[in-house]
This record gives sequence, structure tokens and C-alpha cells, in this order.
Amino acid sequence: MLFQAIPFILRLGTASEATLISLLAARCKAIRRLLATDPKTSESEILSKLVAYTSDQAHSSVERAALIGAVVMRKVPTDEHYSVREEMLRKMVEEDKAAGLIPFYFCATLGTTPSCAFDRIMELGPLCNKENMWMHIDAAYAGSAFICPEFRPLLNGIEYADSFNFNPHKWLLVNFDCSAMWVKKRTDIIGAFKMEPLYLKHENQESGLVTDYRHWQIPLGRRFRSLKIWFVFRMYGVKGLQAHIRKQVALAKEFESLVKADKRFEICADVVLGLVCFRLKGSNELNQNLLKRITKSRELHLVPCQLSGRFVLRFAICARTTESRHIQQAWCHITQLSFELLQEQPH
Ligand code: PLP
Repeated sequence: MLFQAIPFILRLGTASEATLISLLAARCKAIRRLLATDPKTSESEILSKLVAYTSDQAHSSVERAALIGAVVMRKVPTDEHYSVREEMLRKMVEEDKAAGLIPFYFCATLGTTPSCAFDRIMELGPLCNKENMWMHIDAAYAGSAFICPEFRPLLNGIEYADSFNFNPHKWLLVNFDCSAMWVKKRTDIIGAFKMEPLYLKHENQESGLVTDYRHWQIPLGRRFRSLKIWFVFRMYGVKGLQAHIRKQVALAKEFESLVKADKRFEICADVVLGLVCFRLKGSNELNQNLLKRITKSRELHLVPCQLSGRFVLRFAICARTTESRHIQQAWCHITQLSFELLQEQPH
């Protein structure tokens, strides 16, 4: 089974924790490396020059990790597909290095929150490796889809990553909370967080037989999250989980074709997995009003986003029991409310 085959996976509670841990480990690694090469410098001097990067589409938890880690985080602009490309990051890194700063960390996203966009890690990875920047991959939502071979090309370039995280609790039928983090070199994490007071010493410590996950995370105690993952895997099997993902992607495609067939609406981002970004052709205000009506009706719950300055509605399929008839009903409901709204608009 997946999690038995890869023993050094840390089961955390959230993707936010994983990002924070990777950033703190990267910070510690960079400081140690720079102190070793230039003993005249100080930890505080290095810290004041460190710069981290992430996409302008990244989840707010990434920016928050930098806030907690007390480092500057710069947002890299994205292309027309809302993906970070190598030349965009390279330009910022070069500018910062010329200004005497020290780039040390890049958080790529596979499956951004606003539109489920994918940063081009195949291009970005070699740059990060060359510049000694830790590359963390936040695949909180989309990571579950990689259980299907047809989505794995989106993972091309993963070999350059220092850490990777996804939330089985988002889309792999595991109950909240469960976030799985993989680290290329576990000594990077352990080196950053290891504390060994007398009251936590134990006989197996030096034998290498026990993986002491307390050194990998912020809390000392741990929940037994692998047990519930194991039960889900036993219940559904790989085929069952693949069928679940494929069905939901197909439902998203079904919704996308309904939107595309209606000239009053537009699709606002590529539909790759279970998220459809769409809007009424017209002003942001019009779409805000549509969302208000949808929310007020209490039939559907949509969370909006801003894409290229436009207010966009997000139709996310994630409930295990969603069927085609729900998609049809939802669309019927949205078009009915849109019809009423458009009727009221001054012509
Ligand atoms: N990263 C991405 C891409 C997300 O979509 C989300 C939540 O939606 C998060 C991080 C935060 O996840 P968590 O609640 O597990 O910290």
C-alpha cells in the first residue's frame, strides 16, 4: 500500500502545518549552510536577508508561514493559466540576489485554491535546485488525484522537490484531519526541530529502529492518523479511490459543458479536476448579486474567487454522494436565478 511503501511520510493535521514546517526547515538549512561558508556573518544578519517565494495564486497559509517564520515572502506573478513559470521566478530571484538578498525557499502549488492551477514544477525545480532554494509542493486538494495514472503528468518535476504535501481529508475520502507530508531528506527536518530532554529519552533512540516523528513536527504528541487511512484503503482499494476521483472529474466536466452551452456564461479557468470557475458575462457586481441569490436560496453553496480582477464563482464537486442529477439540478437552479437577475437589469 502507498503509505507502507513510503515509510517516511508524516501524517499531520493540515496543509498549513506542512508548509510552515517546510519553511522553518528550509530556513534552518539555509542559515546553517551560510554560517558554515562565512563564519564572519551572524544568524540575525542572514535571517534579515532571506527571501521566500510563492505564486500570487497560493493559499493564504503560505504567506502566513512566512509571517510566522519571520521571513519576507514575495509573490510571483502567474501566466494566463494562473501557473508560475520558470522565467517569472528567475527574474525575481536575480533581482533579489543583485540587491544582496538570499533566496532560500519556493512554495509551488499543484491545484491552487482559486482555480486549481498547476505551477510548472518541471521548469521551476531545476532553478530551485541550482539556487539552493528548498522547493515545497502544496498539493492540498489536487494531490489525491495523483492516485490516477492519467493525472500524474501534472507531477512531472516532483523529483526536484524537497517536500510535498497533500490532504487525504480533502478528496481521498479520509475523515478530517489528515494531511500527508513527504520529505526528501528527513535529516533536514529532524535537524531543524530536534529537542531531546531527559524525560523524552528512550532506549531505541540510537538504534535507528524507531522513527521518532516528534522531531518532524511542532506538537510532541501525535494522533494515529495512519489507522484511518489504512481503513479507507482497505474499504475502497486503489480501484475504488480511482473511481471516486474519476467520477468527480467527470461531473465537473459535465457542469463545464452545461456552462459552455449557455451563451450568457463564461468559463474562467481550465477545468482539470473537480473545480469549475465560471461567471455570468458582465460586471463583477452582477456576479456578486448572483452569488448572493444562490447563497440566500440555501440550495447550493459556492465560494467565490478573484481571477485577473474578475469576481468568479467556483463550483466544486467534493461530496462522495454527488451524482449527475445533482449537477443538472444545480445548473437548473443557477440558470433560474440568473434569469430572474438578468430580467431585473436595466436594458
Ligand atoms: N493549500 C491549498 C492549495 C488549499 O486549497 C488549502 C485549503 O483549501 C490549503 C492549503 C489549506 O489547507 P489546510 O486547511 O489543510 O491547512
